[in-house]
Amino acid sequence: MRIGIVAVLGLLFAVSHPRPVAEVPLQVVPLGDVPAADLALLRRDLSRTFTGPVQASPQRPLPREAWLKNRQQYDAAAMLAESARWPRSPGEKLLLVAAADGCRQDLSYVLGLAQPADGVAVVFLGRLGVDAGPERYHRRLLTEAHHELGHLLGLPHCDAPRCVMRYSHTVADSDAKGSAFCARCRAEVSGER
Ligand SMILES: [Zn+2]
Ligand SMILES: [Zn+2]
Repeated sequence: MRIGIVAVLGLLFAVSHPRPVAEVPLQVVPLGDVPAADLALLRRDLSRTFTGPVQASPQRPLPREAWLKNRQQYDAAAMLAESARWPRSPGEKLLLVAAADGCRQDLSYVLGLAQPADGVAVVFLGRLGVDAGPERYHRRLLTEAHHELGHLLGLPHCDAPRCVMRYSHTVADSDAKGSAFCARCRAEVSGER
């Protein structure tokens, strides 16, 4: 009888408190003039999704070595390669938040990029405000941050229409999907399969 009650209570707990996605110590690093409100929102929201401490570093300058003068943009891959060399605690993931526009060699711009092998990812604020008020801008920021962190946890792109791991290139693509993991992606990173 007692076991039955414990089991029922355990089930109720599991239903009302879905397990956070994954234990991941995370450092959010603002590059350039990132609004304090953006950082506060990211820390609050990411710590709901991921367990483990979500720290915010002091602001760093945008890295000169990643600046592409001819394109007037930052090279996302160069930025990640640079940040992978910064000292950090073992296992800690880095999410760079760059107050700039970013690109890749083969793409005219990117909203974000992840380098899972190095545990580093970046989200660029430069285009998130296009045709958006503060609410939509913040939703895009959280969506892109969750997407890149999903890659850091080993997730590939997902075809589910509302899944945050769906590929998005434009802000319209970002708006069309949700900012949460679908059940399958969530199970994947939580080890609940
Ligand atoms: Zn992606
Ligand atoms: Zn998914």
